[in-house]
Amino acid sequence: MNRRALFALAALPLAARAQPRPVAVASFSILGDMLRDVAGERMEIRVIAGPDVDAHHFQTRPSHAEAVRGARIVVRNGAGFDNWFNRLISSTGFAGVNVMATQGITLRRAAPTPGHNHGSQDPHAWQDVRLAIAYLRNIEGGLIRADAAGEAEYRARTTAAVARLEALDAWVRAEIAKVPEARRIVVTSHDAFAYFGAAYGVRFRAPQGVATNAEPSAQQVAALIRQIRAENITAVFMENMANPATLRRLAEEAGVRIRGRLYADALSAADGPAATYEAMMRHNVGLMTAAMAG
Ligand code: ZN
Repeated sequence: MNRRALFALAALPLAARAQPRPVAVASFSILGDMLRDVAGERMEIRVIAGPDVDAHHFQTRPSHAEAVRGARIVVRNGAGFDNWFNRLISSTGFAGVNVMATQGITLRRAAPTPGHNHGSQDPHAWQDVRLAIAYLRNIEGGLIRADAAGEAEYRARTTAAVARLEALDAWVRAEIAKVPEARRIVVTSHDAFAYFGAAYGVRFRAPQGVATNAEPSAQQVAALIRQIRAENITAVFMENMANPATLRRLAEEAGVRIRGRLYADALSAADGPAATYEAMMRHNVGLMTAAMAG
């Protein structure tokens, strides 16, 4: 800080000086956006697994423990998605409010993948906008526990955010309804969209299971190629945080064009098409409906 800036700061009335805000930490980018929506300016938001990062298998570094140290509240997804975050939190001796965003949500079972993740839970609940509203409510409750003085602001901000997501949910339904039911099939890299599919009536097929580390077998890929050809599936997508190699090979062998990039488990960078949860959903639905139509 130069001398002039120092002088300007000294001239400010005490109350107007920037106070260090309490820190709120989210395990991954989508939760970070929701946390920011509800917390507003009252908290400093930190996100551990950032944009375009695969949070299924995130490797934490010492700097991440530093980011969590002294936090007032932390938010994770749960359901096996971000177990590394629990380890990070306990390594720092965290004693603040610990929110699991999927608390109270009836989770889907993961579709059994041969030899992998059989019987585990599907963590991708945020892809159903109504369940994202439940995430907001859990975050709201956590923020009020962490900072009771901000209760009125947290409640007002949550009410506004829920209204936006209710409008988003209605928009998604209206967009999907424009696509003939038989055409509502999407192929994507990994099983991240089962909640979306159940909520909005779209069938999803993926060569990979709910986690991103299970390599699909040659038989699974071949079966999916046959299905793409037999059902004339045109909506084939890569994902922002997953390795595109399998999907590229599959599309090539099936003779279909990859129609773009869906944002599954992470937002885009701030200058990308999915910088917020709402932008992500609108981006994905826009791409899917255009591609499903043919
Ligand atoms: Zn995933």
